[in-house]
Formats: sequence, C-alpha cells, structure tokens
Amino acid sequence: MNIVFAASECVPFSKTGGLADVAGALSQALAGLGHNVSVYLPKYKQTGIADGKVLLRSVTVPFDDQYRFCSVIDGGRRSGVQFYFIDYPPFFNRDTLYGTPAGDYPDNAERFALYSRAVLEASKILGPPEIFHCHDWQSALVPVLLRTSYADDPVFRNAATVFTIHNMGYQGIFPPDTLPLLMLPWDLFSLDKMEFWGKVNFLKGALIFSDHITVVSRRYAQEVQTAEYGFGLDGVLRKRSGTVTGILNGVDYNEWNPEKDRLIVRQYSAENLPGKKECKYDLLRQFGIENAKNAELPVIGMITRFAAQKGVDLIAEIADDLARLPLILTVLGSGDKVYQDLFIKLGRAHPGKFAVKVAYDNGLAHKIEAGADMFLMPSRYEPSGLNQMYSLRYGTVPIVRATGGLDDSVDPWDPATGKGSGFKFIPYSGAVLLSTITEALRAFQDKPNWTKMMVNGMKKDFSWTASAKEYVKIYEKLAPPKHAPPVEKVVEFSRA
Ligand code: ADP
Repeated sequence: MNIVFAASECVPFSKTGGLADVAGALSQALAGLGHNVSVYLPKYKQTGIADGKVLLRSVTVPFDDQYRFCSVIDGGRRSGVQFYFIDYPPFFNRDTLYGTPAGDYPDNAERFALYSRAVLEASKILGPPEIFHCHDWQSALVPVLLRTSYADDPVFRNAATVFTIHNMGYQGIFPPDTLPLLMLPWDLFSLDKMEFWGKVNFLKGALIFSDHITVVSRRYAQEVQTAEYGFGLDGVLRKRSGTVTGILNGVDYNEWNPEKDRLIVRQYSAENLPGKKECKYDLLRQFGIENAKNAELPVIGMITRFAAQKGVDLIAEIADDLARLPLILTVLGSGDKVYQDLFIKLGRAHPGKFAVKVAYDNGLAHKIEAGADMFLMPSRYEPSGLNQMYSLRYGTVPIVRATGGLDDSVDPWDPATGKGSGFKFIPYSGAVLLSTITEALRAFQDKPNWTKMMVNGMKKDFSWTASAKEYVKIYEKLAPPKHAPPVEKVVEFSRA
C-alpha cells in the first residue's frame, strides 16, 4: 500500500516532542511490514540536510494577496522510508519550529497551510497514495483540502485520510479571516465544519473531514470524548466515535535500549544490572553533584516540555516538602518561560536536591533514563507519553498520574504478588503526588522487591510492530475507499 505521512516533525530531522519519535518509528515499522511510505516534512533550520537533490523546483501555493513558491527536496531513503522536504525558507528557516518561549509565531496558519498544500501538490507528481496519514493540527488542512478544494481532483479520487491526534491541547486556532487568506472556501466557517467560538480551528477541520481518526492510546481515546480532556472538541469526537481508535505509541528500541545505548556511560540489561549504578554516578556527575552519599540516595528523573500539561505546577506546589525527603530530583526541560524560571528558582533554592538543566539535550535525556532510579510524570493529561515506556526499559521505575497512555502502560506495583512496574495516582493534587512519591521511596528501601519491579518493567515490550499492524488494519478498511466507483459486474464468456 502507498502511504504518505504528513507530519510537522520527525526524527532524525526535526523534533520538539513525541510526535517526531512516532513519525520516525511508525513510518519505519510500516515500511518493515512491506508498505511504501513517504514522509513529507518542512525543511527547518535544524533539519540538517544540506545537499538534498531538488526534485520539484517550484510548487505554487496560492494566498489571497500573492502566490508563494516552494520547492521539494529529496531527503533520501532511510530504513525503507522515503523522505521529502518542503523548502520555503521565509517560513521554515527559523531557530525553532513553532514559536519562541514568548509564544507561537504569528504566521503559523500560513506556514502550515503552505506545507499542507505543498504536500498535496507534490504527491500528485511524486506519487499519490492510497492513504494520507496526517498528524496533529499542522497537517490538518490536508484532509480538509482533499474533501473541499481538491474534491474533484481525479488523482486523489481513491485517496483516503487517517488523522492521528497526538495532543488535543494544540489545535491551530486562528481568526476567521484566515480562511480567505489561505484561499479556503468560506462555507468552512460554520459550526458543523471549522468554526470554533468565532474562530477557525484547523484540528476541528481534520476531525470532521478525515475518514478515520486515531488517538495515541486507548485511554486517551476515551478521555478526549469527555469535557474534561476534549478541549472543546469532545462533542465532535463523540459524534465520530465509531471512527475513533486508540492505538498506543510504541518505542524505537534501536534508539532507547540500555543494552546498546551509546549515549550512556555503561550498557546494561535486566540480567546485568550493575552497569546502571555507573550510569547513576555519571548522571550525578552531569549535574556536578556526584559523591558517595548522593549515590545512595534515590534519584528521581524528569525530562519534559515545560508546559502546563506536564504537571510541573504540582512539583512546584510540593517543592519544599520534596526538598525535606531523602532524594535527589534531576530535571531536564525546556519550553514555557514561566516554568523555566520556576525550575531555575527551585534549583537555586534547594541546591544539590533539585538539579535542573533548562535545555533540549538528547544525550542528557538518555543519561537521565539510565541513571535515575525513578522517573516522574505527574501529567495533567498525557495522550501516550513515551518517557514512561523508555523508563520501563531502562529499569527506571515510573511514578505517573493515571491518565492517557501513562495509565495504559504502567501497572501499579503490588508487593503482595510481586507484580507491577510502577506507581500511579489519580487525583491531580500535590498532596496525592507527595504521598505517592513517599510510597515509592519506602518501596525503594526493600532492595529485592525493588529489583523485581525494575525487571518487571524492563521485560515489557512496547515495540512498534504490534501498533503498526493496528494502523494497517485501519488503512486496509479504507482502501479501496468508499469513494471508489462500484466494481462493474464481470461477465464470463465461454471460450467454446
Ligand atoms: P510530548 O510529546 O508531549 O513532549 P512524550 O513523552 O510523548 O511527550 O515525548 C517526549 C519526547 O521528547 C521524548 O523522546 C523525550 O525524551 C523528548 N524530550 C522532551 N523534552 C526534552 C528535553 N528537554 N531534552 C531532550 N529530550 C526531550
């Protein structure tokens, strides 16, 4: 099957979060199952391909006041997946992907409309697929355009669309005059299409016009249909509940595996755990707090986007209590300035207890996964979450709020049966978080049981193949799509 992925980020070319990991690993897993997958990405400053061959010199994208002309660059094949880059430096050659710590870029609607139209125009020439698999609001206009402006295009008559929600919190909401600016039909500005409280909502458009919707965990698929987690689009999703499927993200174990991770100081496995101790010491060294006493304290790791979603305010709420407990918290994060400042302040207030680095640093992320004893994700909501699954493989016991993919992937530890892989709490409250951390610290004292819990987690398998097969089932239902003309009856003539 021919599949086009439209995603705004993808490892190893560009990344701000889990979407990039998923686009990279899922496309590879699908190629591994024998499908022909092309991934279209914007070419950002950080993309890091200098000498790609220009395949299409000029793709025309209309805006109301001017035409813009982008080009398409060959990103080559990697692990069976073909990459294409939409190159338009005025929009994409910037230091960051979507905005600065102060806020989103003001022209994000134009940027990702250009990207989405370019994906359609380029794929007409480079190979129209049976399935357009689009990810998050940045590619939401692909299904909208396919069923509106491009509805009569014979090239796309058999193309079906799958849309994956990686995070309902980011919808692409813009003023109404965005529609004429982007040359989109004005009748999209109605409640049953893209209108959302007087504005235009890209994600809503995708949820209305896609043939199938997927959400990145089963639990989150239920949650987004409730007012608490739906960010105002729960009603739209409830209406489409028959075409909403939850599929948990997988892990790229080539990248995240302590047995062969080259970014950590010592490789280790469930059968050979002492290497993890060396990783712990190395982690303490990264933060300049290595000594024999600290090496005995439980180290709790966090790697996070600094955003309200991630529950960072809960940590701030209980910071003083945490500082009194026998533990060290190592935090790596980047994102909203308010949270960056808050964590820098916590680090200064409790030196040696809260070790904070504000940065985006993949190498240090690996060192935290390997070196920490526990991993903290107190998310307000978490569509899938990847770090808790990485943590399980690294024997770093997750402490999570029971929401979305965190709930689906972490089993609560039960000392009576020796089953379970982590600690979960439900109410979004600092007090409950604190008591869950205290419970984990108590369990940490019982070394044989703690090791059992680590090993339980390390043996869990979240590899992509199983999830990729679930996506293929959806693709196969859609292709040949319902828009295909009815098959004509074949009349058999006898040769006699
Ligand atoms: P989200 O996509 O909401 O940010 P996920 O848990 O799904 O959350 O994925 C986060 C991914 O981004 C993980 O691969 C994680 O290691 C990485 N990551 C997040 N913040 C940082 C950071 N400051 N430095 C390095 N990697 C980070």
